[in-house]
Amino acid sequence: MPRPIQATIHTEALRHNLARMRAAAPDARVWGVVKANAYGHGIERAFDGLRGADGFALLDLDEAGRIRSLGWRGPVLLLEGAFEPRDLELCSRLGLWHTVHCDEQIDMLAAHKTHQPHRVFLKMNSGMNRLGFAPHRYRSAWTRLQALPQVDEISLMTHFSDADGPKGIAHQVRVFEEITRDLPGERTLSNSAASLRFGGQAGIRADWIRPGIAVYGSAPDYPENDIVYWDLQPTMTLASRIIAVQELAAGDTVGYGSSFSAEAPLRIGVVACGYADGYPRHCSTGTPVLVDGVRTRMVGRVSMDMITVDLTAHAQAGFGAEVTMWGRAGNGALLSIDDVARAGGTVGYELMCGLALRVPVVVE
Ligand SMILES: *Cc1c(COP(=O)(O)O)cnc(C)c1O
Repeated sequence: MPRPIQATIHTEALRHNLARMRAAAPDARVWGVVKANAYGHGIERAFDGLRGADGFALLDLDEAGRIRSLGWRGPVLLLEGAFEPRDLELCSRLGLWHTVHCDEQIDMLAAHKTHQPHRVFLKMNSGMNRLGFAPHRYRSAWTRLQALPQVDEISLMTHFSDADGPKGIAHQVRVFEEITRDLPGERTLSNSAASLRFGGQAGIRADWIRPGIAVYGSAPDYPENDIVYWDLQPTMTLASRIIAVQELAAGDTVGYGSSFSAEAPLRIGVVACGYADGYPRHCSTGTPVLVDGVRTRMVGRVSMDMITVDLTAHAQAGFGAEVTMWGRAGNGALLSIDDVARAGGTVGYELMCGLALRVPVVVE
């Protein structure tokens, strides 16, 4: 028998969250962002829940091919554009739209032979300082693209650095608006956080939003707000079972490094899930976990294949009891991936993307 650990992808929850994002910016079309193999969910596994999107955005050309293989004929956008000239051949062949964020990519386009001119998204660096043309260089890049026979429609794009925090997006919106005011073309600015927090705000013209994390049931501005506040549902459950029980006496310790020691007699359950499954090793004593759908805490260090949990309040739970690391328990109880991520000093994004290959995944 395989180890009892399993991940579940919740199709209905993906549908719900996507609809939720659509409602956050009702006038915009929605890119389903499926980079990083749909944030660890698996593109093929998430597709059914996300097929209501208006297009799919990602950055890996192989993943773009997989979306087309699923029969998707609608828009597909490469968020980082071409990495080398022959990527443009694939764009022509698969009808991919692509970001243009630097001069080298314009050079590649100028040298590209195609019968079908490309739809491109010209990216401005409005303050994030990763990809995009500086504001004072944006219009000349636009003019250069406009003159190329290889280019069809030019859309305008930027990305926010602080949509989830106190700094907000106003400073970047101002820069973007100033430079693009009289340029034609569709606009796309907002990720999940910006769509939820500023989606209904007048003055931000958005033809497309680009939500990722919220679609996968994680609150982009956690802990300020959680998924209940944003009416989002977990789309991934990581669950396993108790494979052993230990009765500790006061002073007994648990696991490597004896990092946890019992103050009083304590019953603990040993769970078949460790960092080799994608459970964050930085989670320590106190990290929330559900046993039979009731909240308790992890104790001691995370090891490769096991964690240990406090069964004080779970007198009935023994060998074989259900343990939910994040997501939805059998009794319907929820444990947000954000709660667990925070305990491990990280974000929900990293946990879902880090689900290990050895964990069997089912779709429901
Ligand atoms: C990843 C990404 C998004 C989605 O961001 P979330 O925070 O997951 O909503 C949007 N736009 C770009 C350019 C991205 O790289």
